[in-house]
Amino acid sequence: MSEIISVVSGKGGVGKTTFSINFAAALKEFGKEVIVVDADTYNPNVGLRLGLPTLAVSLQDVLNGEVKVHHSVFMHPTGLKVIPASVSFDKMGSNLSKLRDVLLELEGTVIIDSPPGLNDDVKAIIKASDIVFVITNPEHAAVIDAIKTIKLAKSLGKNRIYVIVNRVTGDAYELTTDEIELLCETPVLASISEDQNIRKANFENIPVIYRNPYSKASIDLRFLTSRLLGIEYKPPPFLFLRRLFDR
Ligand code: ADP
Ligand code: MG
Repeated sequence: MSEIISVVSGKGGVGKTTFSINFAAALKEFGKEVIVVDADTYNPNVGLRLGLPTLAVSLQDVLNGEVKVHHSVFMHPTGLKVIPASVSFDKMGSNLSKLRDVLLELEGTVIIDSPPGLNDDVKAIIKASDIVFVITNPEHAAVIDAIKTIKLAKSLGKNRIYVIVNRVTGDAYELTTDEIELLCETPVLASISEDQNIRKANFENIPVIYRNPYSKASIDLRFLTSRLLGIEYKPPPFLFLRRLFDR
């Protein structure tokens, strides 16, 4: 049986897909069995982001009962396991009500990437999960949408909810982690730095953790993962020097 973590946000473009893939890679580094599931059936990005074949067996085929969930798992060359969503126009907006039953057949941690907003798909995804990660950016509009998503998750009976603040620069024009925690009335598990390497890694269809293991974002992701797992993580020494060769 698996543990299911959904990655949701009110606002679009805050980094859910990027986070889902890289969090999975970080969990794998810590020795966990992990599978990323793309439940954004309108804009499936996980497969595209990892350069998987677009005609692959998809989550929709599993939900329609055409394929067993174990047969829908793709292995990225990095070893990351993924269940992509179909890019086919006909399979957009598939019914996600069976999502939890289907995903519980898997072993390990299942990470569900989701569409933005508060629609029925997002409700089904939150219902399907044991832990809800609400991704936001440190700006008012994103945080206000995060608050709505948290309210939705609470109204669906979820109590393991964490906020993750992505694209943090630390400059004077963004909300601080403390402010976000106060506004959301929900713990911030960790924040992830704004990092150019994420764009480079996305362009090359590879998780940043593998492409730039010493980058700020990769270290932040490992901190976040270790905190969730309740274990200590010490970044490698001489990070500044290592980053010179980590481009
Ligand atoms: P969502 O899935 O929420 O729509 P994406 O993961 O597609 O968001 O990310 C949106 C854009 O933000 C992408 O172009 C991605 O490269 C960029 N991005 C995400 N996180 C970061 C980060 N920490 N630093 C820099 N760019 C980021
Ligand atoms: Mg996305």
